[in-house]
Amino acid sequence: MNEHLIRYYHHMPHGIQTLGINLFELNAWAVHRSKQFFDFFALLQETERWDNHLFEAYQNKHLQTIVNFAYRHVPFYRKLYDDHGIDIDRIRNLDDLEKLPIITKADISSNYTRLISPNEKHPLVMHTSGTTGTPLQFLVSRDLDVLNYAIAYRRNLWGGYIRNSLIARFVGDKPVKDCNDRYLFRRSYIMNRLIFPSYCLSIDNFPKIFELLRKHRVKYIQSYPSTAYILAKYLEFEDTFYDLNALFYSSEPMYDHQRGLIEKRFRTKLFGFYGQAERAISATECAENRYHLTMIDGITEIVQNGEVVRDGEKGFTVTTSLHNYAMPFIRYALNDFTGYAGDSCDCGRTLPTIFKVDTSLEDFIISPKGMIYSPSLLTFPMKNMRNVTESQIIQEDIDRISINIVKQEGFSNTDCLHLKDAFDTMLGNEFELNINIVSTIPRTGAFKKRFVINRLGRDYIERAFERT
Ligand SMILES: [Zn+2]
Repeated sequence: MNEHLIRYYHHMPHGIQTLGINLFELNAWAVHRSKQFFDFFALLQETERWDNHLFEAYQNKHLQTIVNFAYRHVPFYRKLYDDHGIDIDRIRNLDDLEKLPIITKADISSNYTRLISPNEKHPLVMHTSGTTGTPLQFLVSRDLDVLNYAIAYRRNLWGGYIRNSLIARFVGDKPVKDCNDRYLFRRSYIMNRLIFPSYCLSIDNFPKIFELLRKHRVKYIQSYPSTAYILAKYLEFEDTFYDLNALFYSSEPMYDHQRGLIEKRFRTKLFGFYGQAERAISATECAENRYHLTMIDGITEIVQNGEVVRDGEKGFTVTTSLHNYAMPFIRYALNDFTGYAGDSCDCGRTLPTIFKVDTSLEDFIISPKGMIYSPSLLTFPMKNMRNVTESQIIQEDIDRISINIVKQEGFSNTDCLHLKDAFDTMLGNEFELNINIVSTIPRTGAFKKRFVINRLGRDYIERAFERT
């Protein structure tokens, strides 16, 4: 949501805010009742029993259509394929895909207008934050957006969700102005959701959060892994439990130690979702803890040193989105690290499984007052930043944070103040913030860079559970 709109929203009384949230969710409500949604949903269910031939036939058909479309209507692809001497009529199926050049995030950011297709009337404008790479803006078609709603809904059903049940969502947005809010959440009546902020996690607020969950008999939670982990940590600290039917997570990797504690304290199974802002491909975790590719949204190639690797081997993802006619992504290097597992799953679904997607290992930020900030939450101030190539947040001490920025041309003092202001607002002015302009963010492993590093020492999370 737009910053000015949020400021305006926070000045409104509680009742008007609730009305605002419900108006905001009208689109999601309407999509969930549209014919296109049910058609996609029916197709998704059907694909759970498809064999390889059916997947291939589906992907071949849509691949040929979108590649032809891109060549004829999108200037970037027309030039790229002409420069490579590609005869587009000879790109007919998955085996031909390797003849097309791979495009990168840098290609997207430097050719933005030339990637826009003239045919899509009202595309969605999406952003990624410049946390571990260059921030990107791109377009997503309405069709793909509806397909995504259907995929998300199916994930909930895999977790045993019963349509229209109440779900508590811990979000990165700001549904309440600050953590002293009397209600601490806002209710979406039309989607039947309690919307909690992820930034109000502290020893002072945990009892209130759980009291509210109990009062509303919440049986489903959707959150970042780090948020769920902190909530489970509190249950452990109090040596108590909260029974859920399912916990849904996405946006961050779930580490084994986090999963173990969350399962134990919420006495439930966890259902993950892998996707990206680009919505090129996706995968859903089943009750057997395996990730099944969606297959009808996009094609996933696993590539190592420019070569497609065999099933069972790992590499980086190169994706082709089959439904984004607003801005086609064809052989787009997402650079997540995974691979086709290549075996069947005990859940009985025939959708191919992939290895757990590896990204970087992130830390939390703990404030002097015991507030806990997850890495996903910390990406929010970065989302409105321009002229930033990459960034990294380091907690140097309990009240001191360094924000390292690799700047682009045009980065000014105003950008610097804007960034400081955005972090101060989120972190409640509890830290001394130092913004450093650096030439590069060091890599920590074979693939991704870390966005959040905590240097407080091994048991830094425990500090959040000490009353001050
Ligand atoms: Zn399965």
